[in-house]
Amino acid sequence: MAIAIFFVAHWTTSVFFQTFFLHRYAAHRMFSMSKRWERIFYALTYICQGSSFLVPRGYAILHRMHHAYSDTPKDPHSPHHQPNFFKMMWVTKNIYHGFAHNEVDPEPRFDGGIPAWPTIDKMGRSWIGRFSWVIAYSAFYLVFATHWWQFLLLPIHYVMGPIHGAIVNWGGHKYGYSNFDNGDKSKNTLVFDFVTLGELFQNNHHKFGMSPNFAARWFELDPTYQVMKVLAFVGIIDFGKKVQLARYPAATATAGAAAVVEAPAAE
Ligand SMILES: [Zn+2]
Ligand SMILES: [Zn+2]
Repeated sequence: MAIAIFFVAHWTTSVFFQTFFLHRYAAHRMFSMSKRWERIFYALTYICQGSSFLVPRGYAILHRMHHAYSDTPKDPHSPHHQPNFFKMMWVTKNIYHGFAHNEVDPEPRFDGGIPAWPTIDKMGRSWIGRFSWVIAYSAFYLVFATHWWQFLLLPIHYVMGPIHGAIVNWGGHKYGYSNFDNGDKSKNTLVFDFVTLGELFQNNHHKFGMSPNFAARWFELDPTYQVMKVLAFVGIIDFGKKVQLARYPAATATAGAAAVVEAPAAE
């Protein structure tokens, strides 16, 4: 039971901070927050992702490239240009590494406005830091595991962040249905995305890239947006005066700019 709780808690918190902090905040700047809250969420992202912490700079640049080049040969992680799931993960990791370690300069348009905390980035990138988390996860299993097969779950803890990314990048551009023709192969994989907390509404998200709500139709539910509405209500985050709203059918088929409408912070 302790193992099940630990696994679900690690999975959920890791993917939450990936979609909320790395994706919607660091890469897209869909909302703003104070410097103090940014630091708190930055630290929580590190703690919850642990051994597979993704440096915001590496994640944000990679992701901005993905939107610009979605499913073309220049997309850093398209399932339509990679032979299999694991090869795509490997190629993605190498491109991410170049940006996260400041070894490769991105196109200028993909840079800027990315939160940075050098101390945490350094800890997250260091092998001593990563290995400390690996020991901690393994120790937890040694104490609480009740069957040998539970140890098979341990490698998932070690690389949790990249696994979530790869599920979204592969599934979200390959399996499911489309609400919109975005000129790419993005799909909505699930109508209630509890596995990756809204990330698998890729087709909606590529249509309305700045909408904090990844759900567009009445039967779709984006769990992270529900949490964000609470965070906005209590004043921790701010959607700003003009917020893009995902809608179906797209009222903006002929005029993309009209997608940005005057609207209150929350729907
Ligand atoms: Zn995508
Ligand atoms: Zn995005």
